Amino acid sequence: MQQTKNTTRVFNFSAGPATLPLVVLEKIQAELLNWHNCGMSVMELSHRSSEFKNIVDESQKNIRELMQIPKNYHVLFLQGGGRSQFAMIPMNILGDFSSAAYVDNGIWSQIAIAEAKIYTNVNVVASGEGSKYKEIPTQKEWRDFSKDAYLYYVDNETVNGIEYQFVPETGDVPLVSDMSSNILSRPFDVSKYGIIFACAQKNLGTAGITMVIIRDDLLNRSVVANTPSMFRFQNHVNDNSLYNTAPTFSWYVVNEVLKWVKAEGGLAALAKHNATKAKKLYDYIDASDFYFNDIDSKFRSRMNVVFRCKTEELDDKFEKQAQLQGLTGLKGHRYVGGLRASIYNAMPQEGIDALLEFMDHFAKSH
Ligand SMILES: *Cc1c(COP(=O)(O)O)cnc(C)c1O
Repeated sequence: MQQTKNTTRVFNFSAGPATLPLVVLEKIQAELLNWHNCGMSVMELSHRSSEFKNIVDESQKNIRELMQIPKNYHVLFLQGGGRSQFAMIPMNILGDFSSAAYVDNGIWSQIAIAEAKIYTNVNVVASGEGSKYKEIPTQKEWRDFSKDAYLYYVDNETVNGIEYQFVPETGDVPLVSDMSSNILSRPFDVSKYGIIFACAQKNLGTAGITMVIIRDDLLNRSVVANTPSMFRFQNHVNDNSLYNTAPTFSWYVVNEVLKWVKAEGGLAALAKHNATKAKKLYDYIDASDFYFNDIDSKFRSRMNVVFRCKTEELDDKFEKQAQLQGLTGLKGHRYVGGLRASIYNAMPQEGIDALLEFMDHFAKSH
């Protein structure tokens, strides 16, 4: 448990919505009733007001600075979560092509593939199925994708607990990446990508808003017929993501998280913290004969650490007892079972220490 001025908080290891930095929550609480002396909550501000425009401009500036986003990219803040992008990307980026390439690394890849199939032929260039999604096939083994509209992959598979440690080389084929669960966890070279997107409820803020970084030339492609206005990137670009009433509160939270990331020292500093946190946890699991993670270190996620006890029964017991100790959200995804500790940017070092202490205690008493 964490003691704060006003309350007792658990360490929340949920995969998403996930824990937020305590200082951000305290700031939101402090300015909830009267945001920046405008006499009302940020929730009550018009999305077209000059006050809200400050948040729009600041968040653009902050994300561009943090991720070093080149000038020829637009940053959009949209609704519909990560999943809307599974449709929006083929709808807007297929253009005159008759297929799109996808790498199947696990559950989020598969959901995106199924959605893309509504609009086009999908060329699955590689699949982790043979390794039960414990490995990411090296690019040498991928099928040809030179005739596809784009190549899509999931940089961090939240459910399976695997993460890329390389950026696919795609030449002229635009690279599209779902970074919902690892955006801002380390520096990424944005110039290598055509599109990067991330829902906010893991590393960026609260549910209800999704960030899309898109290279401007991709807006020249013809859009699939009958695409609704809300699903056209160009409309959001034209209106600076204020095409309709924006999710103002979620946007404000994202901006506060971005300010926090800057104060923490930016992405290089966070990458270091994250590597330390993940290493502590994996080292402990590897040294133990009670807990297991059979993913090769080359593929292990630094954000979602999946593990198991010897039996499913023990997994259940672990999860329930951890909950009583103020360690929540440790149940593995319903598709894969087991346990999972999601340790995003906002999970403090003390959360890892508390989890390790509990793991040690649980192992010794079982
Ligand atoms: C959480 C997650 C999503 C889902 O986003 P929604 O906002 O629930 O639609 C998509 N992709 C990945 C990799 C995720 O972890």
